Amino acid sequence: MIVDYHIHSPYCGHAHGLIIQYIQTAIQKGIHEICFTDHLGRYYLSKVQKKRLWDWGMNERDLPRYLLEIADLKEVFSNQISIKTGLEIDFIEGADELLKGTLNEYTFDFKIGSVHCLPRISWKHLSEIQESPTDRIYKEYFRLVNEAFKSKLFQSIAHIDFIWRYFQMPSGGRNAVEELLDNAIQSAVDNDCCIEINANGFMWSQANAVDKDDLFCYMLEKINTLGAKITIGSDAHEPFLVGKSYQTLLPVLKQFNITTTCIFTDGKRQIVPLG
Ligand SMILES: [Zn+2]
Ligand SMILES: [Zn+2]
Repeated sequence: MIVDYHIHSPYCGHAHGLIIQYIQTAIQKGIHEICFTDHLGRYYLSKVQKKRLWDWGMNERDLPRYLLEIADLKEVFSNQISIKTGLEIDFIEGADELLKGTLNEYTFDFKIGSVHCLPRISWKHLSEIQESPTDRIYKEYFRLVNEAFKSKLFQSIAHIDFIWRYFQMPSGGRNAVEELLDNAIQSAVDNDCCIEINANGFMWSQANAVDKDDLFCYMLEKINTLGAKITIGSDAHEPFLVGKSYQTLLPVLKQFNITTTCIFTDGKRQIVPLG
């Protein structure tokens, strides 16, 4: 089964095209099931957090519109593709209850959590932080990733490889990152949460074929040996990027003996063969 479980939509304000175009691309590419996972806005956070964090998600009033539009298109295309509704949600420590409260009135098939900022160090997006050495950045990033796994708020955590796309290795070098990754993957297993294989991370590793690129493969190897479950997604912000790089990515996953992925209905997981 070919699935794409990380797709954005124009509702977040920084993705392009129309929802229907994302669906049409998925059909053209022979994808069997897609899940929209647009960014939830940060309107639900406390006043202090809201003031500090930039927002890149949906407006509060757009959330029901987003769900309704997907529900309509799901019906229209039901003979051609399976469509699921989801959200990508920033993991913000201490905001669990506010988040649960805000999502209470809706049903989502799938919620994926992400760490895009490290509030204890900076409220900026990771790509905008400049720091050297990077030791405390790596440590804090993986601390939050582990907390996100433990929170049970999400069915999967997105792009845990995000960190090395933006930061030089810490002073402990690659070994230090491997250790952090080992702990994170073990934490996913212990908390029965999936790890996302993100096509952007894979493409980054392909394009930066230096020492760091092995880390993506290292992550795949560990996912296999520790028996972690995965979700897979393109993180498309443009319709033509749905299922991006799958032709190369899927065979690589097979090489690492990753042969199943997870799909979700109303938050309930199903494990299906991959590819
Ligand atoms: Zn993300
Ligand atoms: Zn995303």
